[in-house]
Amino acid sequence: MSETTETIFSKIIRREIPVDIVYEDDLALAFKDIHPQAPVHILVIPKKPIPTLADAESQDHAVLGHLLLTAKRVAKEAGLENGYRVVINTGDDGGQTVYHLHLHILGGRQLSWPPG
Ligand code: AMP
Repeated sequence: MSETTETIFSKIIRREIPVDIVYEDDLALAFKDIHPQAPVHILVIPKKPIPTLADAESQDHAVLGHLLLTAKRVAKEAGLENGYRVVINTGDDGGQTVYHLHLHILGGRQLSWPPG
């Protein structure tokens, strides 16, 4: 299990680093990825600093569900009527680089499968 540590996303939540925020509520924040991999690339993060999906516990079920519903909401608001992909990179083999749980919402072009 990863330890809960300060990440760049904690600074973003505290507004210490500017980002292009597209949605916010008590539990979640959504903002544009700084290195977009598709025409639409938004990150949805919990305000609670859960490091990875593997660190989530049963008590986090409400926030996890809320993150998915937030992903649906911001995808709709971004105009992704033709579909999109939601990705949670988890741990080193999953390609995770920021250890604060986040959902990638990717869309606006045809996405290939399988990912690299
Ligand atoms: P992952 O590799 O799944 O951990 O994804 C981390 C994502 O955070 C990457 O897509 C980065 O481009 C993105 N990212 C890192 N720093 C920032 C930042 N300051 N503002 C917006 N997105 C960021």
